[in-house]
Amino acid sequence: MVVSGENMKKMVKSNQLELDDGDIDLLGFRMGMVPIYTWTKLIERLYEMQGEEAFDILFEVGKEHGQYAIDEIGKEHDIPRRQFLDQSLYTADVLGLGRFSLEKINFESGKIIYKIEDSPFKEEFENSDILSDLDREVDDLQRGMFHKVAECVLDSQVESRETHCTFKGDSYCRFVVERKEG
Ligand SMILES: [Zn+2]
Repeated sequence: MVVSGENMKKMVKSNQLELDDGDIDLLGFRMGMVPIYTWTKLIERLYEMQGEEAFDILFEVGKEHGQYAIDEIGKEHDIPRRQFLDQSLYTADVLGLGRFSLEKINFESGKIIYKIEDSPFKEEFENSDILSDLDREVDDLQRGMFHKVAECVLDSQVESRETHCTFKGDSYCRFVVERKEG
């Protein structure tokens, strides 16, 4: 989904987006919009100070975000898990973190594959001198979100990995989350 000006207007009309005295409320979340540039600066500083542990921190923060989304979306009503998944992806889309979708979902085998296309981080990361020496997938914040939401809908502990990443030259980012055996 692309959030165009027209979509923005619709969201305001339907009260999905409320603007009030310096407060922004989006889908029930109180927002503080941060430019992707600034996000990237935050990640650069983290990386300079912590090395690759920075990505563990991002993963943990992503999980916190996932839990917050679960609490907020789940609060409204008891929705079926597929619908919950779709809604959590819609929320991420609207936040401007790229085009999120489900490539595969199997509740029986406990496997969910997520995709992010057009991530706004790709260009910023590629332009970063500080991150340029990295040879790894970098979207651990998003992985943390997927990880937490998958734990919730699969009602189980999970393992997650980013198998493809635009930062490494893939055409999209792909995340595989699987139920942990045992
Ligand atoms: Zn990636």
